[in-house]
Amino acid sequence: MTAKPIYLDCQATTPLDPRVLAAMIPYFCESFGNPSSSSHIYGWEAQAAIAQSREIMAKSINANPEEIIFTSGATEANNLAIKGVAEANFSRGKHLITLQTEHSAVLDPCAYLVALGFEITYLPVDSLGIVNLQDLSNAIRSDTILVSIMAANNEIGVLQPLAEIGKICRDRGVFFHSDAAQAIGKIELDVEAMQIDLLSLTAHKVYGPKGIGALYIRRKNPRVNLAPQLHGGGQERGFRSGTLYPPQIVGFAKAVELAIANLAEEQNSLRQLQQQLWNAIKDLPGIYLNGDPEKRLAGNLNVSFAHINGNSLILALQPVVALSSGAACSSTKPAPSHVLTALGRSRELALASLRFGIGRFNTSAEIDQVAQKVIEVVSLLQLS
Ligand SMILES: *Cc1c(COP(=O)(O)O)cnc(C)c1O
Repeated sequence: MTAKPIYLDCQATTPLDPRVLAAMIPYFCESFGNPSSSSHIYGWEAQAAIAQSREIMAKSINANPEEIIFTSGATEANNLAIKGVAEANFSRGKHLITLQTEHSAVLDPCAYLVALGFEITYLPVDSLGIVNLQDLSNAIRSDTILVSIMAANNEIGVLQPLAEIGKICRDRGVFFHSDAAQAIGKIELDVEAMQIDLLSLTAHKVYGPKGIGALYIRRKNPRVNLAPQLHGGGQERGFRSGTLYPPQIVGFAKAVELAIANLAEEQNSLRQLQQQLWNAIKDLPGIYLNGDPEKRLAGNLNVSFAHINGNSLILALQPVVALSSGAACSSTKPAPSHVLTALGRSRELALASLRFGIGRFNTSAEIDQVAQKVIEVVSLLQLS
């Protein structure tokens, strides 16, 4: 049996923390009730677990429990936020603003709205991946209903200035949505201080289970009006019908609680591993760091190499380290990452990129091993 490669793909997903699994287990076979069953203890137990989890989630972003709507993940939360606001507010305006570097779970709902007659402005970013606030301000029109700007980028880890964006949106009377799939449990999120009106979250990037997420929806000052996208039993105050899934919700809250309890310390140690890796490889010829060196997720490093074939690079690294390129590769024709090209990287550089996603369970010894392999492979490929 060969050992599996070192996992450094924590922007794609993270392993489940065993403490999260332990919290989830009672809700599969023992306390299996439907949280909507109000006439017996099976339902009450499930309902109590959901209520407690909702409180933990709300507290983690400085919101109220009734402002948290559980969804199947950040994709669904983004769809609910963007399409829901568009549908409920089209009489006020048909213009939305987002970033060129957003995740497809934001870009694709926006593209869908274009087909329905909405207009989208896709703001550029600077060469380090950050939005220009003057550009944002200039783009807001009298018919703008929503600004959607992500908290942390999934490819280059870059953090956007949420509080400044929130202030601009609030001053101009436009709802502010942020996709925080990569940010929850990694940076402090405060929907009051940052004036965020809608916030998309997911569990599986923060050592929780896959298939569970949430949307924060502001209830007052201002109240966000939004049309549900799933209709049925009326769960989640009618915003998201469907039987709630207690093990996943309990696991989500546990994962967030653990991450936040130890946030500063964990981010410090991730930053050290990231620096260790960068220091080891930064002098390789033709290397480029993608994204702001400081304003980024502590565990993320994204680099491009000149004069190297991107596919050969990933293939040669595969036995030692599990990671991905910044680019979404299709088997036949690789496409350069829309994020890296938005930074101004050439097609060739965008194709020859590596996204390192360092996480909670990685060690300094693993980083050494990976760095050595990267140096070996890059030197070999640059010769050939
Ligand atoms: C992972 C991710 C998503 C999708 O989240 P799911 O919970 O897997 O649907 C959306 N946006 C960003 C920025 C992500 O990193």
